[in-house]
Amino acid sequence: MPSSPENVVIIGSGPAAWTAAIYAARAQLNPLVFQGNPYDEKNRQNGTLPLGQLALTTEVENFPSWPAGDTRQYLKTALKHDDVDFPYWVARDNVPQPSHGINGPELMALMRQQAANYGTRIESKDVVNVVLNQSPFTLTTHDGETVQARTVIIATGARANYMGLPSEDKYKNNGVSACAVCDGALPRFRNKPIVVIGGGDSACEEASFLTKFGSTVHMLVRRDKLRASKIMADRARDNSKIKLNWNSVMTEVVGTDDAGVTAVQIQDTETGEVRTQDAAGVFLAIGHTPNVGFLDGQVELTEKGYVKWTTTGRTYTSVDGVFAAGDVADDYYRQAISAAGTGCMAALDAERWLSARGVH
Ligand code: NDP
Repeated sequence: MPSSPENVVIIGSGPAAWTAAIYAARAQLNPLVFQGNPYDEKNRQNGTLPLGQLALTTEVENFPSWPAGDTRQYLKTALKHDDVDFPYWVARDNVPQPSHGINGPELMALMRQQAANYGTRIESKDVVNVVLNQSPFTLTTHDGETVQARTVIIATGARANYMGLPSEDKYKNNGVSACAVCDGALPRFRNKPIVVIGGGDSACEEASFLTKFGSTVHMLVRRDKLRASKIMADRARDNSKIKLNWNSVMTEVVGTDDAGVTAVQIQDTETGEVRTQDAAGVFLAIGHTPNVGFLDGQVELTEKGYVKWTTTGRTYTSVDGVFAAGDVADDYYRQAISAAGTGCMAALDAERWLSARGVH
């Protein structure tokens, strides 16, 4: 006999997904979360591993309730020690805690733990296919398993963009990266010039972080001003190891098979002049693309390719019973706290949807 459909399947692993799971679990809906496949190389390259984009960051200074302080003792008691992603510095007293307050991986591990504490079931699989034109919906995971669901919450987030140069692709993992926190400490960058592309908060944050390792960090900004918020822009401007290059775009990554990246070619957008800058690495920080490929056009998207919220102030999508939360549907706020907020909303929307159909 086929098993009965899941009440709520949540796809994703960021603040939206875990907040949705906490709410759905506490509403006794027994949610199932597909947090993604941790062993998939594409996921690693795209930054779509379990715990999402925040797992690739350092301090999270703007998520309310985490002022500066020594959180080590709290983390030790709040997180389960058998968790595969348990932050190593929590377990070892002799390792200095790398942050005050909270950092991204810790925050995400706490959210997931909170969801698990209320009975959320978690599977480390990618959802690769969905059938949404028939209720219950059918979801297929990367290992060929299928699951039926009465409601689905899409919370798959967004991933970092690249320029799209063949030379950039060639040197990925060999000097080209979109995650300074993941790769910045590699020996290849020590005391060498590093290039960061972009002028937003991410670029400023990555550039500041990379000054710990590189000799100079050259930020390439395609206009003559930064998009970043004032506080982040000031931090970058005031850092003597960061050099801001205005009206500058990268046209080529230069390197060798053995050494990886050795330089980049930079074009001045005003004069057209091209110059070469020595660099051991290039870090991209030029925005994000929502993770919607697996939906295969079955849910309406916005002009920018994000899942469309079809009703103002609700997390409804174009498919009745399918809800969206977090960065996959939000190209505007893109904050951990706003993603968590819409995750909560999606769970409440799913709960009410089910309740109206007699599922409590
Ligand atoms: P943004 O979209 O804010 O900035 C992207 C930057 O990349 C812009 O400077 C943009 O230039 C540039 N860019 C885009 N495409 C290209 C291209 N093809 N070639 C060269 N440059 C390009 O993205 P972020 O990831 O920086 O930030 C996303 C959101 O996350 C924002 O809301 C931000 O505030 C938030 N954030 C907050 C942080 C914090 O508070 N600690 C840290 C990081 C992010 P242009 O300006 O010309 O469009």
